[in-house]
Amino acid sequence: MDTGNSNRAEECGQLKTYAVGIDLGGTAIKYGISNHEGEIVQEFTRPTQATAPAQTILDDLADAARHGLEYAGQHDIPIKAIGLGTPGAVQVDTGFLKGSTPNLPAWKNVPIRDELMKRLALPVFVDNDANMMAYGEYRLGAGQNVPNVVCVTLGTGIGGGIVVEGKLFRGANDAGSEIGHMSICYNGRPCPCGGIGCWERYASATAMIERYNLLNPEQPVQSTITIFERYHQGEEAAATVVEEEIQYAAVGVANVINIFNPQRIIIGGGVSETGDWFVERIAQAAKGRSMVAAAEGVQIVRASLGNKAGWLGAAMFALDQLREQIGEV
Ligand SMILES: [Zn+2]
Repeated sequence: MDTGNSNRAEECGQLKTYAVGIDLGGTAIKYGISNHEGEIVQEFTRPTQATAPAQTILDDLADAARHGLEYAGQHDIPIKAIGLGTPGAVQVDTGFLKGSTPNLPAWKNVPIRDELMKRLALPVFVDNDANMMAYGEYRLGAGQNVPNVVCVTLGTGIGGGIVVEGKLFRGANDAGSEIGHMSICYNGRPCPCGGIGCWERYASATAMIERYNLLNPEQPVQSTITIFERYHQGEEAAATVVEEEIQYAAVGVANVINIFNPQRIIIGGGVSETGDWFVERIAQAAKGRSMVAAAEGVQIVRASLGNKAGWLGAAMFALDQLREQIGEV
């Protein structure tokens, strides 16, 4: 499905450097072509074969990249690199996927970068999907020109990306920034990660839906959009769930403020799309729970790139890494 604006190709010309960015998700592979200033040439999406073997997913990613390269070739756009964001922990120097994700059961221990470079004959850069979303918001979205940013994604789970002095923070084994799995209750709800009381078991979209359907089993919901609709209609179960969500989200955001003292926290993901009012309520509650010195001046804002953040971040990451490594771009 083509959803972008192909006229941008002519406007952008050939002087700028372009990448294909890819965001591998549990249900869709989103990808597109952009230059280093975030000018989008075209974007695409195709379904993820989530239960397929790793080789099939690699082939699908390579097909997506080739599709982008073909499109770029037809419009005389030079592609210098491919960037990919994937669920799971990625060894960033080698592009090796270590960790797995429940949504893609066979997607683990995959030398993604080497396999894609073999298939595509272009430089490939791979990192965790939440890191790529954070990088996208930092480079082009709600975190532009702010060197210390934490990005929180309230979706099926809770993703986190941390930018410190303009660089992604990854930890000793490239497995850090998993803020959705900080425990907020020692004997709380079990989490598929093996932990107990993880933040995402309380404040993710999944948690909201589970909680709502427990309170109102007669009229169950499948999405948080319906919960927010019922909230605005004054329904009691929805009001309980949304007010709880604001407090649970605020607990985690307050922890982030106290630990990182960031300039800005960006809240994205499907749950945040309900509107600025929701993020403002979380911000107010979080600041009230934070230490005064850490909370002073912190800005808590809604993400601005929507579901483009992942692939755009991957494209920016690829071009920035390329420039760092070989002085190009
Ligand atoms: Zn967990």
